[in-house]
Amino acid sequence: MRAGHPASDLLATVDEAIHLAIEGEEKRQLGQLEMIASENFVSPSVRAALATVLTHKYAEGVPGRRYYGGCAFADEIEDICRARATRLFDADHANVQPHSGSQANMAGYFAFLEPGDRIMGMDLSHGGHLTHGSPVNFSGRFFDVASYGVREGDGLIDYDELRDAALRARPKMIVSGASAYPRTIDFEAFGEIAREVDAYHMCDLSHIAGLVAASHHPSPVPHADVVTTTTHKTLRGPRGGIVLCQAEHARVIDRTVFPFTQGGPLMHVIASKAVALGEALAPGFADYARRVVENARELAAALRERGVRLVSGGTDNHLLLVDLRDRDLSGKDAETALEEAGITVNKNTVPGEERSPFVTSGLRIGTPAVTTRGLGRDEMRTVGGWIADILDRPHDAPTARRVRGGVTELCARYPLFDPGR
Ligand SMILES: *Cc1c(COP(=O)(O)O)cnc(C)c1O
Repeated sequence: MRAGHPASDLLATVDEAIHLAIEGEEKRQLGQLEMIASENFVSPSVRAALATVLTHKYAEGVPGRRYYGGCAFADEIEDICRARATRLFDADHANVQPHSGSQANMAGYFAFLEPGDRIMGMDLSHGGHLTHGSPVNFSGRFFDVASYGVREGDGLIDYDELRDAALRARPKMIVSGASAYPRTIDFEAFGEIAREVDAYHMCDLSHIAGLVAASHHPSPVPHADVVTTTTHKTLRGPRGGIVLCQAEHARVIDRTVFPFTQGGPLMHVIASKAVALGEALAPGFADYARRVVENARELAAALRERGVRLVSGGTDNHLLLVDLRDRDLSGKDAETALEEAGITVNKNTVPGEERSPFVTSGLRIGTPAVTTRGLGRDEMRTVGGWIADILDRPHDAPTARRVRGGVTELCARYPLFDPGR
């Protein structure tokens, strides 16, 4: 049942403290149901690329135009990675160097904007990301922020309202994409509204990149000036970011990633991104993405049948947002109760939230990681039942013990990357 980590075997003899902590984390991951919507499990090949000699290499610049010698193999790797990214998303150009999704967004903003310019992104409490204009993030410090949200009644983006808000605010850039929006996003509408108000359209595809890659969600690429994404969520790659853009913006995007926001690229991570993109281009990935969405729908149905309220009533993608406001239970307490029962999720604000972001009145639940593990619709029924049991009786120890037992048994039936499967 080992997930195969040769590096941690070496560490056992030279750095026991770190070795033990990694082993503890590995056991934690294998023995619980990972339902944090932004997490996933990478393949052994994606992981293998990370623990390589590439971490030694400085390769500032882009392939063919580096500031350091000895970059022949770095060029080869980064060229393959860029070609796979552009092919997978049907984009003109890709920069695969951003160390994270936040770094990708920083490059996307500063390629087109100056400090003080106005951006318009989804409000954090409505499902947006910190980098979409939160005051505690660089985006809220450097830019003047006008937010949009979702309708309180049905939890959906109201595109007429968005258009009116954009006409009033006249932002220089509109950001589409979210971290906690369970429904299909109309990127074409975002593109039209941005054109109408003469704004750039940046799409942050982080959460649903894998679904778009597999055509289970419409692509923003024809409708955006720049598309940013993480590589470690539904795309199932290593932690990192990518920026995609049209050919006319290629130079400015490359210059903004380096030297504006970053120094040397992480070549081991770029190699790993290349492997993950290769996997996403292979035929099996479309089936994976389809099962992610099917599982989310099944889980939503199972929860609804048990009287659990969902923002927007359900899901079109890989995540659901549980609204706990009809219960005497906060998101924080629900998260803790579920974790004790072996199900890992995160508390989340809901539209119209009245509690603090550290407490919240909602839960975000996602299916990418459990789907990677092999769980299907039958298991989603079972898991939905367990989640409802815990939400109904969050402080009942026998319920927690019973669910924990079921989770342990289910995890044993679906070992991660078992070579026998
Ligand atoms: C996860 C996420 C990010 C940030 O990714 P990091 O790699 O954690 O910096 C940015 N935007 C959205 C919409 C996200 O969901």
